[in-house]
Amino acid sequence: MKPESPEHSAPADAGARRAAAPVIAYPPETLPRPDLAALRQARAGWTRIASLAVPPREARCFEVPAGHFFRITSVEGPQVGDLNLWSADLSERFYSGKTRALHGTHLSTGDRLWSGFPTLRPMATITDDTLDWYGFDEFGASVHDVIGTRCDPYTHNLLSRGGQYHHCCHSNLIRALAGARGLTLAEAEPLVHDVLNVFMCTGFTRETGQYFMKASPVRPGDHLEFFAEIDLLGALSACPGGDCGGEHSSDKAACFPLLVEVFRPAALPAGWAPPPPNGYDQSHGGG
Ligand SMILES: [Zn+2]
Repeated sequence: MKPESPEHSAPADAGARRAAAPVIAYPPETLPRPDLAALRQARAGWTRIASLAVPPREARCFEVPAGHFFRITSVEGPQVGDLNLWSADLSERFYSGKTRALHGTHLSTGDRLWSGFPTLRPMATITDDTLDWYGFDEFGASVHDVIGTRCDPYTHNLLSRGGQYHHCCHSNLIRALAGARGLTLAEAEPLVHDVLNVFMCTGFTRETGQYFMKASPVRPGDHLEFFAEIDLLGALSACPGGDCGGEHSSDKAACFPLLVEVFRPAALPAGWAPPPPNGYDQSHGGG
């Protein structure tokens, strides 16, 4: 957090230094873009092959084969979901930091969820977002962020000076992954990673740059839909914060289930092929 009263005085040319124009770090024009129209066309006549409810303050895993779609839907009441994605063999995982650098702080239709190094390839592409109307509000907040990490019992322990809470998204995701893949909790924990905060409404305060959340605008019937670019294992936690308009890391907020559905298209999207691993040769300048 930047100090309100800096210890060092500004140099004479502070104004000129501050006036340097921002440059978009990763111009989206050079990023390979998905053929959204072809992906959406493939939804016609699709078949729902799986449907599962994620109970409040719990997480569940689900498999999505490459070329299939999955949808996360709000049911019963406003609820935030914390999403983890792995390749089906667990060798790749979602890289929220690079996804943020490439697409911005909040994701919507046409954005992709990228895997970490060395594969750095799209794992999934967002094909529909019923909250895309929200944009950025007067506080600078928007939905579906890749800036929050996930609520976790360690941060809670620090901030509450010793609290032990077991249904943070981090723990929920660990239990779900361990159960789905026959791992111990200790084996599953290092595989859990920073999330896509589905339906969560967040931003940074303008004055201090502090991460904030506010009640999600999601309502029952809203959904976020993805196309799986590779064989995926997903895990979704129905955050103990509910709509995240109050507090998380406790049982105080009203919490609701989330629905996950997986769809098989009648035919693969025209022109689509699974993305190959990143083309960098990994020699890193070594001998
Ligand atoms: Zn959470």
